[in-house]
Amino acid sequence: MNKVFTYDSTLRDGGQAQGIALSLKDKLRIVERLDAFGIDYIEGGFPASNPKDIAFFEAVRELPLAHAQVAAFGSTCKKGVPAEEDEGLAGLLASGAPVVTLVGKTWDAQVTRALQATLEENLRMIADSVAHCRAAGRRVVFDAEHFFDGYKANADYALACVRAAAEAGADSIDLCETNGGALPFEVAEVTAAVVRALPGVAVGIHCHNDSGCAVANSLAAVRAGAVTVQGTVGGIGERVGNTDLLTVIADLELKMGRTCVGPERLRDLTEVAQFVAALCNSSVPTNRPYVGATAFAHKGGLHGSAIARFPAAYEHVAPERVGNRQHLLVSELAGKATLVSKAASLGLDLTADGVDVQAILDDIKGREAAGYSYEVADGSLALLIRRHLGCYAAAFTLESFRVIVDDYEGAGAQALGAMSEATIKIHVGEQRFVATGEGAGPVGALDNALRLVLSQVYPQVAAMELVDYKVRLLDESQGTDAITRVNITASDGVRTWGTVGVSENVLEASWNALVDSIEYGLLTARKGASTRRGGGHG
Ligand SMILES: [Zn+2]
Repeated sequence: MNKVFTYDSTLRDGGQAQGIALSLKDKLRIVERLDAFGIDYIEGGFPASNPKDIAFFEAVRELPLAHAQVAAFGSTCKKGVPAEEDEGLAGLLASGAPVVTLVGKTWDAQVTRALQATLEENLRMIADSVAHCRAAGRRVVFDAEHFFDGYKANADYALACVRAAAEAGADSIDLCETNGGALPFEVAEVTAAVVRALPGVAVGIHCHNDSGCAVANSLAAVRAGAVTVQGTVGGIGERVGNTDLLTVIADLELKMGRTCVGPERLRDLTEVAQFVAALCNSSVPTNRPYVGATAFAHKGGLHGSAIARFPAAYEHVAPERVGNRQHLLVSELAGKATLVSKAASLGLDLTADGVDVQAILDDIKGREAAGYSYEVADGSLALLIRRHLGCYAAAFTLESFRVIVDDYEGAGAQALGAMSEATIKIHVGEQRFVATGEGAGPVGALDNALRLVLSQVYPQVAAMELVDYKVRLLDESQGTDAITRVNITASDGVRTWGTVGVSENVLEASWNALVDSIEYGLLTARKGASTRRGGGHG
């Protein structure tokens, strides 16, 4: 009664999004993760339409799922063809999926124009197909395509379609807002009408986000009596996407008192978002509700000190409930309280006697005025604070570096690979090292030279890699030499951290960010993993 069923369509409708190409193995990993997360139904694809989906259904049968049921998606039988002779339905049943989701038309104009069938024949197709799949022992979901447009155009016919599906034994009637243009009050009204017209029948909702209301529309449908919500992880899908199932789950659980996955599993929400994004070869947008890196980020001195005393004033829910965490952004506006909290999150105590917090703050502000920004550079910030606290010894010091960049003409340049060469002279303790590294670019060459030396002394360096390198020109309008800010993100496979370097010279800015990156990596590796995961987000 309190339960709202979750139906994930990431692999089917989500897979329609541009740029999403999941391998069979990726798909199976997503199924396993969503099953562990407590999703009730996972739609795998169209087994009738392509060999890749057939292979998926064969493989997914072997997965030992604890909770979720896998759904195969396809159309009702063809016009003029009895259900038991329809090839598409045969493919759906042959997939072995315990759930069959049948999409059918409910908008009269779609039936007569697109399908070129009579309204009666469409009702026959729906009823026959549902009854056939039910007789084969499957749970049947009827996806009522274009239902909201259909209802507006001809409410009686739209209702006749879903009634035909329900009377033929469909287990759930899922209303599809196919165009994505409806608004919450319309969805609420139409969903309520269907719930009234089909007493005792389970109704679900499937929305697209074209009017920016997919989540709101889904919540409105639940309030109006829907008991299943369809969506995709991260809202991926064609055009502007589908309902973000993770946002809906958090809203239902935390704001509407409903149960989808339960409070324990809800703590995996952020991790699930990151897991699926990584397999889709993307990352979770920082401003995504509940699960984004800045979903619980706070900036500004006044605001920062208030949040430490009274988090509810600035956080709609406690970030831990969805597996996220509070981030304090250090910025020009930051006051002492923000800095103390931020330092604590980096494992540094500024509350001890004799710590001159104001001096650290002044240093940060001075550097920010010179072009530094620590919002995504926790590593550099931690090193700066440590220098003030006197608990920092540099792992190495630079004597000099030199970079040579060769430019080759023509197509052969790529084949030559290494086009930059860097020579560095550094000291580690009493020892002096000279090394040369090559790279496709000057920063890669410097990085390689530095690693060549440091890996002899610090084996931990081998596990670190640069995952992102960004260059930004500041003060471009001044006409003089622009200042360059370089941000580097590094990872050791478990933790990620960011550093920053600033100079009029791009190589020097890069070198400074690179040195901080390796220093911070070594520092935290020596201490053990005391920095929390995702620390690079700032
Ligand atoms: Zn859809």
